[in-house]
Amino acid sequence: MMDHILVCPFNEKLLSRLKQRAVVINTKDFNIIRYINKELDNSNKLHAIRVQTDKPLSEIHFHEEWGKIPLAVYSPEFGEFKNLLHQLNLIRKLNIRIFLSSQHEFNFTGLRILSSLQIACGLYFNEEPHNWDSINDLMHYAIYTKTTHAPIEPFHWVAINYQPSEYTDYSFVYFNNPTQYLHLNDQEQIALTAEDLAKGNFIDQGIKSLDSIHKNKKYIHAENVRYEIMLQMNDCSFCQAFRICLAKFSSLKNKNQTCKIFFSDFLNAADFALSKRNKGNQLWQL
Ligand code: SF4
Repeated sequence: MMDHILVCPFNEKLLSRLKQRAVVINTKDFNIIRYINKELDNSNKLHAIRVQTDKPLSEIHFHEEWGKIPLAVYSPEFGEFKNLLHQLNLIRKLNIRIFLSSQHEFNFTGLRILSSLQIACGLYFNEEPHNWDSINDLMHYAIYTKTTHAPIEPFHWVAINYQPSEYTDYSFVYFNNPTQYLHLNDQEQIALTAEDLAKGNFIDQGIKSLDSIHKNKKYIHAENVRYEIMLQMNDCSFCQAFRICLAKFSSLKNKNQTCKIFFSDFLNAADFALSKRNKGNQLWQL
């Protein structure tokens, strides 16, 4: 059984207890990226550094010294393109994915610009999305566009991982699927997702308990919750796109006008991407 990748803050005492484990480090401070990488060099396996900032993307000062450090930068908005222009060559050299919030309308254009400039990027949902048409347009661009462009998440992840007979959970993109990631705070309290950690919904506490987490009742329940939803008689259990949405927007009131339309198109796009992937295996046609 694979060890989980642990998502945690940069806390040297905590990290000294996580030796040899793979980690994603959460920080808000760009100035400590190199220091984090140096400190983790020999002890933990650095999966990524996730930087959540309040700054618009165009106001972030990128550094050549970040080199190949795996970075996921979460910014609320794209900002002014003219302010970003002089940094584009540098960003392209970095080992980075840039995520922008779904709350700002211009971010949808910003993500297209980044992608067309060969910068890997993605959309993140921090509140209930209100602009489903824009999300849908971006998804269409990400999956159907033939011109060369960098991946846009979570659409690209679904396009390459979707299997019709299985559930496809794009939360992996956000380090949030408990089959692969668990979240820890400074007190070694363990949660299934970043949201659970923020809300204090812990499943256990202590590094030692990580070794037996697969026997933890709350952990097992989380693995089975999607099957329980399917047994409930509600919008999500009857939704054809459940297998790629997994009821992520179940609290929305008007699902027929919002998430259902988008995820139904997303499912078609995932099928399209799958058929493209499978084409290589097909016998030539007479
Ligand atoms: S698309 Fe909407 S209705 Fe369908 S599973 Fe997701 S949240 Fe539920």
